[in-house]
Amino acid sequence: MPELPEVETIRQGLEQRLTGRTITSLRIPPDRGKPVPVIKKMDESTFREGVVGARVEGVSRRGKYLVLHLDTNRMLVIHLRMTGALLFPEAPEDRFVRAIFSFDDGTEMRFTDVRKFGGLWLADDLSEVTTDLGPEPLSEGFTLASLAAAVAKRKAPVKSIILDQRRIAGIGNIYADEACFGAGIDPRRLGMTLSEEEVLALHASIRTALMAGLDHGGASFRDYRNTGGDVGSMQQHVKVFRRTGKPCYTCETVIERVKVGGRSTHFCPKCQR
Ligand SMILES: [Zn+2]
Repeated sequence: MPELPEVETIRQGLEQRLTGRTITSLRIPPDRGKPVPVIKKMDESTFREGVVGARVEGVSRRGKYLVLHLDTNRMLVIHLRMTGALLFPEAPEDRFVRAIFSFDDGTEMRFTDVRKFGGLWLADDLSEVTTDLGPEPLSEGFTLASLAAAVAKRKAPVKSIILDQRRIAGIGNIYADEACFGAGIDPRRLGMTLSEEEVLALHASIRTALMAGLDHGGASFRDYRNTGGDVGSMQQHVKVFRRTGKPCYTCETVIERVKVGGRSTHFCPKCQR
């Protein structure tokens, strides 16, 4: 699933390609297989009326949500979930295309989604789409105090806490594992057991892991592509994620995989305590 660095990379591509452009048409290809509406909380014709003719004034991101700000004062919100992508290159239309937006300069944006978990919303405010999200981890709002409060007295594993979008927005499985490694914390540890020093280390390592992802244009373990259809390179720079059975770069101990809160979790049993 695209996480903060991947969604932010896509946002940058969308901003460059779409700012000032007017949506001239929307095509929703027939839904093959088990039908799942790509447009959420609204019927297709109402959505179409709301977006066609609207100009994109800017593109922002909140957690893993992409927000196209329209000149009608409404927002087109996109969540890619597991396998969604927004692609611009001319490509043969495949059966996973869920929506095609055309713009006044002739460009087309295809929303492709193999698993169909992603969606499109037209809203006046992001609160219509999602429950409250925690602070953006790369913003000043993500303070040491906010992380300390998120873990304090919690009997949940540290990994589950930092994956909770209501606590911190934008972290997923890749960067949660990398952040725990960076802080030297076993991802199964309960939040309440972290010392002040460990909270400080985790706060820094969350930011370091996400910044590394951004610097490498995101991680393409499977489906992730940027708006140009290109892969990122973060998958070549991870320390533990999907390195099960390989030696730790720091101590050469074999990286292990366990389940934490139902999620595959990778860690070094020697470096992480
Ligand atoms: Zn190690």
